[in-house]
Amino acid sequence: MLAGALGARPAHGADTGANASALWDAWPHTVAVSPFALKHEGLRAHVAALARRYPGLLTIAEEGVSAEGRHIPLLVLGRGPTTVLLWSQMHGDEPTATSALLDVLEHLGKTRKTPDTERLLSRLTLAIIPMLNPDGAERTRRTNAQGIDINRDALRLQTPEGRFLKAVRDRLKPSVGYNLHNHSPNVTAGRHGPQVAISLLSVPYDEAFTENEGRLVTKRLAVLVQRLLEPFAKDRVARYDMDYTARAFGDSMTRWGTPTLLIESGGFVGPDEANTLVRLNFIALLGTLHALADGSLANVDAKAYDAIPLNTHDRLFDVLVRHARVIGGGGLPPYLADVGLMVTPARPGFSGPSPRGMRAGVLEVGDLTDFLGKTEIDLAGRLLVVAPPGGEDGWKKTLAGLAARGLATAEGLLTLSESGLSAEAKAWLGGAPSLAPGYGGDFLVLQPAGEGRFRAERRISPVEP
Ligand SMILES: [Zn+2]
Repeated sequence: MLAGALGARPAHGADTGANASALWDAWPHTVAVSPFALKHEGLRAHVAALARRYPGLLTIAEEGVSAEGRHIPLLVLGRGPTTVLLWSQMHGDEPTATSALLDVLEHLGKTRKTPDTERLLSRLTLAIIPMLNPDGAERTRRTNAQGIDINRDALRLQTPEGRFLKAVRDRLKPSVGYNLHNHSPNVTAGRHGPQVAISLLSVPYDEAFTENEGRLVTKRLAVLVQRLLEPFAKDRVARYDMDYTARAFGDSMTRWGTPTLLIESGGFVGPDEANTLVRLNFIALLGTLHALADGSLANVDAKAYDAIPLNTHDRLFDVLVRHARVIGGGGLPPYLADVGLMVTPARPGFSGPSPRGMRAGVLEVGDLTDFLGKTEIDLAGRLLVVAPPGGEDGWKKTLAGLAARGLATAEGLLTLSESGLSAEAKAWLGGAPSLAPGYGGDFLVLQPAGEGRFRAERRISPVEP
């Protein structure tokens, strides 16, 4: 990489693209496991290895202690007059930025003799808490070992983790804070945009969302992140939609004098989703730190912040079945509907604060034209029928019963009318709830095979095998 490629150019306008691709190429990808698999022990080993590889790069300035006694390292590097505090994983099941911070440290170690990194480390002092909630991380859950959401504990300070973060803030009095999280992967950028990869918030410090110098800084940081990520996550960066929350840490930090940028990782459907999000975080973090260090952040137009599309919930389903003629098990005539499903995640992942995010099954039935699915299935011309309980075996038994009554052939061809099928579906549910939001059973897709004949084509299940 050319010396100066990362930070020397102004961090705005036409030069942002070159800057962004240098950052993309610079990603060292040092955490081999999934961000969700990196726990407290792995983090400590990783930090120790970094310290050995790059002697003098960082110090473990101190360690907080979690409710269950795990040590929470605060890493400090650089010697500049501007202190920046970055903390990640205060929610235990939100690990993406933790891996990205380790990658930033690796990069700064590897390049510390280059002009860019020398400038960054001479102008900034970075204070990094890569895993504030190790007890939650151990359980892959949001809250700490007390069951408290640390991010709602900024006023009461009943969690040792929250007290540690507050004490670090009060002692270092950082000029800027980065509050690093994950949110639901099922969020879109605005009412018409795609899935959100990264959400940003210039965190307010009062109900009126008053703008001061600090908030101008965090708005500029947000705008710069959006521009840096545009080549790799086009239209996938959004503004976080949260109101002012006095008991939350970002809001309190801003009120206490450390204007804070919230960065939330969403989703990125496709192969290697988790690491793509780590890489986007790496670009966002390193790119904005360079802009803080070289002063180019001042050239970013803070007004562009308001044009970043807002997070929109409940528009993106895991599976969206479109244009089906639906037989829902209530004995009603078939009707045209789309069906939006939440699918049980096969791997541990984001649970989030909302029970809605954890329930597998049907979320909505009806006209979902303006909605999106991570997987979309167009069933135009086919029937979507609630399946008998019992999975594949349940269907075989049902089919045998139908054949015995002359309503199916030995080859599994159904020979009955749509209204007959509707009555049968009601019967084979055996009193179990029929299709509606909350329905958690399987579906069969039936392909018409001539008048009064249907063939089962596939099964759609809200539970991944
Ligand atoms: Zn969070």
